[in-house]
Amino acid sequence: DVAMGIEREHSMHDDMAKILITAGQIQERVRALGAQITADYRPLGDLLLVGVLKGCAMFMVDLARAIDMPLAMDFIATSSYGKTTESSGVVRMLKDLDTDIAGRHVVIVEDIIDSGLTLAYLRGHLLRRNPASLRICALLNKPSRRRADIPIDYLGFDIPNEFVVGYGLDFDEKYRNLPYIGVLHERIYHSTA
Ligand code: 5GP
Ligand code: MG
Ligand code: MG
Repeated sequence: DVAMGIEREHSMHDDMAKILITAGQIQERVRALGAQITADYRPLGDLLLVGVLKGCAMFMVDLARAIDMPLAMDFIATSSYGKTTESSGVVRMLKDLDTDIAGRHVVIVEDIIDSGLTLAYLRGHLLRRNPASLRICALLNKPSRRRADIPIDYLGFDIPNEFVVGYGLDFDEKYRNLPYIGVLHERIYHSTA
């Protein structure tokens, strides 16, 4: 099919309407968050990063490398939006922790806090297991969309109410590999909806 052939030849960067946060800005902010977390947790002598799959992937590995102390990493997975861009408020646990977090100093690593419903659920879920402490680190925050009151201890960037992709964040499981945070061109939503 000729149309598909042309489609496959173009750069994925052409699918973006705009770039909100550049790769350089992300790396600079992640380094600063890493230094802040190092300063806070080194004196405690313990840190377990809990990444929320799959959106946390890029942020988690970059953040971990920006932290200067021996840390542990674990992952949980929750149900996602799928192709739609609105939160249902219903959170399903797809993969739980491997680690016993009782007495541990835990930091949840999230890609983005939108309504806050996912994190409100996860926070309660983890607090029931009696960690020594539990904090939240999010790369992005959409304050205008908040429905659950969530304390964000470490934050990368506040962003406006737009659906973003890149640096771990997907649309229909794609575009996670963009090195920046951007907004997709409208024609991309229309072509797969
Ligand atoms: P919340 O429960 O806070 O509304 O958001 C839950 C999840 O929805 C986020 O962790 C993220 O995976 C997804 N999400 C929210 N806003 C966006 C967005 O702008 N872009 C993408 N790709 N995912 C989002
Ligand atoms: Mg997420
Ligand atoms: Mg998603």
